[in-house]
Amino acid sequence: MKSVTAVINTQALISNIEKIKSWAPQSKIVAVVKANAYGHGVITVAQTLDPKVDAFAVARLPEALELRAAGIQKPVILLEGFLNDEDLPIIAEQGFYTAIHDEAQLDALERTQVPQPIHAWLKIDIGMHRLGASRDEVARMKERLEHSAKVVQPIGLISHLSVADCPEQSDYNEEQINYFFEVAQGFSGDLCLGNSAGIISWPKARTTYVRPGIIMYGISPYADKTGTDLGLTPVMTLKSSLIAIRKIKKGERVGYGATWTAPHDTILGIVGAGYGDGYPRTVPNDTPVLINGRMAPTAGRVCMDMLFVDLGPDAQDHIGDEAILWGEGLPVERIAAACGTIPYELVCRIMPRVNMELKA
Ligand SMILES: *Cc1c(COP(=O)(O)O)cnc(C)c1O
Repeated sequence: MKSVTAVINTQALISNIEKIKSWAPQSKIVAVVKANAYGHGVITVAQTLDPKVDAFAVARLPEALELRAAGIQKPVILLEGFLNDEDLPIIAEQGFYTAIHDEAQLDALERTQVPQPIHAWLKIDIGMHRLGASRDEVARMKERLEHSAKVVQPIGLISHLSVADCPEQSDYNEEQINYFFEVAQGFSGDLCLGNSAGIISWPKARTTYVRPGIIMYGISPYADKTGTDLGLTPVMTLKSSLIAIRKIKKGERVGYGATWTAPHDTILGIVGAGYGDGYPRTVPNDTPVLINGRMAPTAGRVCMDMLFVDLGPDAQDHIGDEAILWGEGLPVERIAAACGTIPYELVCRIMPRVNMELKA
């Protein structure tokens, strides 16, 4: 019997990449594999995608080093740049590409010795107001980078859209894209704009390099669509088993806090997965779990290691039967919507004790 397993379908990763290439045939692909490849296992994902993509992107230096340790030789882009002066010689040696989003990073570069010039992409703020040079900083930062002997020329330009997944905010999105291209006029290096929603919804965001994340994993960036709706295949299927089955009477109260009362005599299934595995405790009663081809509703609070489902009075299920929490047959988008979050968060939160298994 399986306790909790995340099955990773590497074929699905490949077919999703092919789909992405069909959306942005002129663009080079930077596979975003931060946060352990959105919980999918960064080494498996990177090794599977390596022959199919042009570069990888991560948030932090240790994530980039993990890719090199796994034998990945392609460019790795640090989306947040670097945090400490000591990071710079490592970035230079490893040939990492770093975003430069703040003048403080340029100061660091000036005072730090590097064994060879670094690859830099100037990150500009086009509307998110999170990281990036503001309108009045762009020209000066660009000039400093272009005049630095410690930087490989020509430098690139990178930015991130804040409402690419919100069709109702198309004006604000257009404004961001137009401003990006206004700045890009002065650049002869690489341009990198579109993330998943940018690639699908906004042809102008399909720049020289694009940065798909969530869609590679077969998951939709939109609140009202699933990955399958978009022609993608979910890569992760999170599954467990029924570890106990018990009869309960109408009126009996289930779980911590007794938040679910049996509306009739029924059979309760105990599934061997809980929030200690990454299944969200915030799901309400009646969230679907796929068991023997049907949706069994959750009943009562999710525990650390287990959760309850109402199998129904006539259930024929057995201990050991498989329970799919999300993935093939049950979109993670649906579970995320039920608990008021986005699927990104659910897949990222898979805990280290979950078995990772490759689909045969
Ligand atoms: C995470 C991230 C991405 C990928 O976003 P998706 O919506 O998953 O495609 C792209 N760019 C930056 C800067 C990011 O932080």
